Amino acid sequence: MRILVVLLLFLSTSFFLSASVPSESNWQQVYNKLRAEDTQLAFQFLQQQVNTLPPGSERIYVGATLARTAIALKKSVSLNEVIIYSDNLYDDVLQHIVSGLVVAHENLYSQTMHEFKQAIAKAYELEEPAVIATVELFYINVKISLANYVQLTHHIKEVERNVQKMNDQFWGVNSLHNVKALNANFNGDHVLAIEMYQQAIANTQYEANKAPYYNNLALTYLDLGKFDDATKYLTKSLELRKLQNNEYKVALTMLNLGIVANRANQYQEALMWLDKAYQLYVKFDNAYRKAYALVQKAKVFTNLKQTTKASDAINTALSLISVTDNINLITDIRIHAAENMQTLGETNKAIIQAQIAHDLAMSVNDKAHLIRSLELLAELAAKQSDFEQAYQYSNQLLFEKEQLNAQKSMQAMIALESELEVTAQQLKNVRLEKNNNLQQQHISRLEERQQYHAIIIFFSLVLLFLSLRGYNKHKYRAQHDNLTDALNRGAFVNRITRVGAPAIGKKHGLVLFDLDHFKQVNDLYGHPTGDLVLEKTAELVNQFFPKSTLFARFGGEEFMLFVPSLSDKVLFDLVDEFRQKLSMMTMTSEAGKTFTVTASFSLLTYQNNVSNLDKIYSKLDVGLYQAKSSGRNCIIMA
Ligand code: GH3
Ligand code: MG
Ligand code: MG
Repeated sequence: MRILVVLLLFLSTSFFLSASVPSESNWQQVYNKLRAEDTQLAFQFLQQQVNTLPPGSERIYVGATLARTAIALKKSVSLNEVIIYSDNLYDDVLQHIVSGLVVAHENLYSQTMHEFKQAIAKAYELEEPAVIATVELFYINVKISLANYVQLTHHIKEVERNVQKMNDQFWGVNSLHNVKALNANFNGDHVLAIEMYQQAIANTQYEANKAPYYNNLALTYLDLGKFDDATKYLTKSLELRKLQNNEYKVALTMLNLGIVANRANQYQEALMWLDKAYQLYVKFDNAYRKAYALVQKAKVFTNLKQTTKASDAINTALSLISVTDNINLITDIRIHAAENMQTLGETNKAIIQAQIAHDLAMSVNDKAHLIRSLELLAELAAKQSDFEQAYQYSNQLLFEKEQLNAQKSMQAMIALESELEVTAQQLKNVRLEKNNNLQQQHISRLEERQQYHAIIIFFSLVLLFLSLRGYNKHKYRAQHDNLTDALNRGAFVNRITRVGAPAIGKKHGLVLFDLDHFKQVNDLYGHPTGDLVLEKTAELVNQFFPKSTLFARFGGEEFMLFVPSLSDKVLFDLVDEFRQKLSMMTMTSEAGKTFTVTASFSLLTYQNNVSNLDKIYSKLDVGLYQAKSSGRNCIIMA
């Protein structure tokens, strides 16, 4: 009864409010005021409002907001009784969004995607910009909350395109700052992010509604390593949320406070916050969040060198997530688990988790987690001295990173409506963890292709160094030629097909070369001397070419080189310098006689991924034949 009176009061004052803040519609002002005071009242109001609005974009927005509030208040079960759907496309859209939001909250990944795909399809059928923008916005929201960043760019662009086409003000205008900030943070521009959050805070009328901005601002400071500021804003956010009786957000804020305290080396404080958050998640029966809180606790235990407790927490977390359906979130936990196991020195266990994360990420084309899992796998393999494997992972990493960069360059502004703190915080954690580790710090800054080569060079160097000392002998021998230690044909082909496209403006080069008149060397100085010449030639190749080069023995005295990502000219000059060096290298026969050898070269460059290798080889063969017939000791562009 009291609630109704309050509602009526607000409804009657809405005209006045409308005059003072013209950009918001009446229901939105009332809602914002109620939300600031009591989520419960806001919920009641939306319940009333949803069935008074005619079918259309506004009703979709109100209905979806109602669904979100209901979920936050654990009242989603009654949603079907509250919203009265009639038989039209708008209501179909709303119904799918509401169902989608409910299943998303239960982390039912595929069901969520299914519902939203239908909502989107129907929204496009309606051809109304406001409807499309609203649906896309909720979809983006849900995707991020499920840690799925695939194809976000496309949906963001759709929101922006449709908002531009709208005649009226868009409902989500006030959150644009929040969105820009999120995007800025994602791209590492923290200064801009802080500016945006400050503006959002300044533009928000009711103190309590600033809570999400304080929260996100705090996480930005966390990312910058400013723990005092982070704690200050999280504490503000927590107070506001307690006042709002929003337990779910209270839990989230406590989780964040725990993460910040851990980063600030205040471990007891961290454990206290994480325990509080965990207890709330137990109450909500949210498996993923429980697991997440446990992983964070494990990180604290690791810092405290309480390894048994850390392992226990991780194992419990892993057993919790097996019941959920959300691949992205499971992958996320697996990666956290692997990172923690790595820190604990449990390399074998870490590899298993990272491998699972890798396979899961592959299965849903989740690039962010795929890259992180590859980084981990490469590191772990190197730690186990499996440098062949480390090399292969780093090659795959290079490929994926390039693909992601290509996508990122098309990144548009994200238009988001709601609070995204958990996912933003997860993203930041991944980044922060990287900063912890010297090697990782190196990797995380490597945006450019050239820099990625540094990793490959590193692994190749280690590989060469250790292979000579008998590491991974069996595997190594299966892929390499006994005499020269160059790759064999099969291993070479296998590797180059995994390498991604070269950097823009650069090309990959393949070089086929064959020693000149080698038969004579054997005839004049004997077969063992011939062998020595082959070994010394291989040695020179390894010394001379960049370490990212792949080098194979294709036939008796015929070799193949893969030199990645150079310009045509640089590559030609490099090969020519090698040709000269080889021709000047003194060879000594068994009998002590000195002599020199030359070789003929066929060179081919290409820009895209290798598709038809056979064709490429036959081209190179023709080039080599030409080099031989035009006098040998020269280079022909095939
Ligand atoms: P061209 O300049 O036309 O290439 O003349 P070539 O004599 O090098 O040509 P050809 O291909 O006829 O001869 C290759 C010789 O290389 C034949 C073979 O005896 C020798 N050869 C192949 N593999 C090995 C090896 O592992 N060790 C040694 N010592 N000789 C090898
Ligand atoms: Mg020859
Ligand atoms: Mg030959």
